[in-house]
Amino acid sequence: RAKAEGRSRYVLFQESMGDEIRLSQQMERELRQALEEDQFELLYQPQVSADGRTTLGVEALIRWRHPEKGLLTPYHFMSIVERSDLIWQVGAWVIRTACRDGHAWPDLSVAVNVSPAQIRHPEFARVLHLILQEEAFDPRRFEVEVTESVVMDHIESAARIFESLRHIGVRIALDDFGTGYSSLSYLRRFAFDKFKIDRSFITAVESEPEAAAIVHTLVALADALGMKVTAEGIETEGQHRFVQASGCDQLQGYLFSRPVTAEEITARLDVERSHADLTASDTAMAR
Ligand code: C2E
Ligand code: MG
Ligand code: MG
Ligand code: MG
Repeated sequence: RAKAEGRSRYVLFQESMGDEIRLSQQMERELRQALEEDQFELLYQPQVSADGRTTLGVEALIRWRHPEKGLLTPYHFMSIVERSDLIWQVGAWVIRTACRDGHAWPDLSVAVNVSPAQIRHPEFARVLHLILQEEAFDPRRFEVEVTESVVMDHIESAARIFESLRHIGVRIALDDFGTGYSSLSYLRRFAFDKFKIDRSFITAVESEPEAAAIVHTLVALADALGMKVTAEGIETEGQHRFVQASGCDQLQGYLFSRPVTAEEITARLDVERSHADLTASDTAMAR
């Protein structure tokens, strides 16, 4: 009996595995079509100064406008993209689109997320360089966001990759910092420009002294290494006060803005500029 039960469970397991494979194959077909039919979109989330007043850069975040399911976040499709050769085309589309949109904001940096599979491709740096040249985009205001897993899994190849990115002149930011392996030794070997402290720490800074201590320590570490720090996922005034007092350089979070369209970024910059003009003329009148 036990044997029979084990067997039927195995069959069930096999069937559900089959379902899953079929589903992801179906999804992969839909994603290929999405590329052809231009269903991907980029939203941009502002990265603001510590006082929250000035937009210094944007992070590009991909969305899929699915014909039936509506606007999907990366959580719903990027793992399939990353497990197939699609990552190559989708990744190039993201870089090119961010450059084209980014021309409208000559004073901002433009950050793009790059998945481990994408950055490990031997041609990644060459293609990035080519796209930047074709789009006439200044590499110094282009930022590549990578996660710690890129570094940890293949130290040697990571060294080569970062070397080639440095050569192009783009900046490198370490995303979701603090959530990966805790070994910090790789920070000595690779010159990153920026840490992005993960939202999970920011969410807890007011309720957990441990999280607050970690944020302080990461800011001090970045200072000592000559790196900048961005705090991710700021949602409340209290969190804002905390990270501002801690000395974070740039802030990102729903408190300042959700990810929005390129047009909305342009409108936001216009508003900021007119505020700055008003303040300047106030100062002039007071004199
Ligand atoms: P990430 O790079 O860490 O991006 C931050 C995520 O947190 C974004 O989610 C953003 O919308 C969200 N977020 C920002 N501020 C807040 C906040 O105050 N509260 C909360 N609850 N969330 C906030 P999103 O857009 O769903 O992206 C999720 C992840 O998908 C990204 O995490 C990134 O790892 C990946 N991703 C996004 N776009 C791309 C892309 O073009 N290429 C690749 N390879 N990965 C991407
Ligand atoms: Mg990111
Ligand atoms: Mg992040
Ligand atoms: Mg994240």
